[in-house]
Amino acid sequence: MPFATRAFYFILLLTGGVAFAAAVVAAEDNRADGGPADTILLGGKIITLDEKNSLATALAVRDGRIVAVGDDRAVERFRGPKTQVEQLGGKTVIPGVVAAHCHAVGVARNSLTRPHAELLSVAEVQDWVRRRAKELPAGTWIRIPRTDITRMAERRHPTTAELDEACATHPVIFTAARKHALNSAGWVAVGGDAASPQVAGGRVIVDASGGPRLLAGGGSVLQKLMPRPVHAKEDVVAALRRVHTSYNAVGITSIFERAASMDDFLLYRQLRQQRQLSVRMTQTFRSRFRSAADVEAFTKRLAMKTGDGDEWVRVGPLKITVDGGIHWGNTYLREEYGARRIGFYAHDDPSYRGDVNYSAELMTEVFRAGHELGWQWCCHVTGDAGVDRVLESLAAVHATHPDIAGRRFSLTHAYFPATDSIEIASKLGVCVDTQSSLYYKDSAAIDEVYGRDWSSRFIGLGDWIRGGVTTAIAGDHMIGLDPNQSMNAYNPFLMLYVAVARKNRDGDVFGAHQKLSRLEALRCVTSHPAYLEFTERQKGSLELNKFADLAVLDRNYLTCPEEQIRQIQVEMTMLDGQVVYRRKK
Ligand SMILES: [Zn+2]
Repeated sequence: MPFATRAFYFILLLTGGVAFAAAVVAAEDNRADGGPADTILLGGKIITLDEKNSLATALAVRDGRIVAVGDDRAVERFRGPKTQVEQLGGKTVIPGVVAAHCHAVGVARNSLTRPHAELLSVAEVQDWVRRRAKELPAGTWIRIPRTDITRMAERRHPTTAELDEACATHPVIFTAARKHALNSAGWVAVGGDAASPQVAGGRVIVDASGGPRLLAGGGSVLQKLMPRPVHAKEDVVAALRRVHTSYNAVGITSIFERAASMDDFLLYRQLRQQRQLSVRMTQTFRSRFRSAADVEAFTKRLAMKTGDGDEWVRVGPLKITVDGGIHWGNTYLREEYGARRIGFYAHDDPSYRGDVNYSAELMTEVFRAGHELGWQWCCHVTGDAGVDRVLESLAAVHATHPDIAGRRFSLTHAYFPATDSIEIASKLGVCVDTQSSLYYKDSAAIDEVYGRDWSSRFIGLGDWIRGGVTTAIAGDHMIGLDPNQSMNAYNPFLMLYVAVARKNRDGDVFGAHQKLSRLEALRCVTSHPAYLEFTERQKGSLELNKFADLAVLDRNYLTCPEEQIRQIQVEMTMLDGQVVYRRKK
């Protein structure tokens, strides 16, 4: 009997009209090396995502690593007297999801501050305010959960009268697009007068009848009225563990904290030391850098660099915020905002193109400085002109430091790919992490307000991927715990559905050419994000010697009707060979 055998059977699967080849791989047998497995999984449909897109039925785990993957007979050889056996009963298994963009510590703190709800119309906002008014003592501020006007049915803030209708006993505030709507009690609290308020450091935008419509600015006044609560560390830790448990319940086993502090990093280390961490975490450090010297000082304080840490708590890239966003109304575009966008965001200058925080020269300087110190970079950049400026700066660094092309620079968001920038990004080895759940929730507004050219490019997964840019899909999860209704949805199966079907909440498809195959989409939440953090040899696929991080699904991701992809439930999640989530029957 040969010690190691490997056989491939090519089969053709047809899903949603898209054909792809898949191979079934027999186990590579290294049973003799290390004795029996801790756990074996048998009788499943294991999407390994190896290079050949092999399918397997069974997998063996020892010390948190995969020691065999293949058919049941081969994996059975790893069964010993103490081996745990998991019968999969034909269920589909995918590699553990690597969520390339979340703010779990922020979510934890937020969950201690106030409740979150997804509110999609003025009527829903009013109902929520009425309920909240019954819970809070009169006079207490009611802050409406973050709701973007791109997601409101009316595509605008509620009016003062609409908020008054819901509540006259408490000051009420609704914030979106960097502008605040208030009820009359709210206007009195911030500006002394409900009819013509005066707000220090703020500008009151009036409606057609001259009454107050929205407040722009006034941040210091608001902060004084609604100070940020301070939470006890143990409460934050408990809340963070709840966030991680919610991630495990949708198959997430690794996350990127996309902007957290050194204290947060140490918190993660402490959780790991106490064996309380149910996700692996790679941290992004964000700052506003004014010079190369700033980068040097900042990284010296951290006394670490990209790749430091271990397989549980790892140092990722530095991050800067280059432009604004589509929700805030300041994404930096190649064209002027014009009348439609100006009206929508309640701006006043139609020649406005968005905000940009860095000149190309400054970005070149800070990217070069970080690169020389051994750091990877990523940047928040949403608009197409913002991406142009980042790529111009990177190209300038590349001219003197061609090795930056191997540093996997990531454009975070990059909502509107353009043909020329895709080409440059691909040449510079630039990657993208973007949010397909935003297409689900925001593309209807993008289509109305920006136009069809923009909605068909919006979250242009097909453009990026076919242009040779390694692209990760992630949620940018910030507030709330519900996988679909939080700000922003973090359910990987909703994101996969959008990537495959390119349908938004109304079922509309803008830019059908952006659709991905199911396997391409799955790579965007597993192997591609692993590539972004240089861990592709440990995660992102189910292969020999990789981490036993995986999720068992309630239906076949590859063959279920397309509409069902977003309804997929996780039956069980395994991290490092240990079950961290099992669905209650
Ligand atoms: Zn973010």
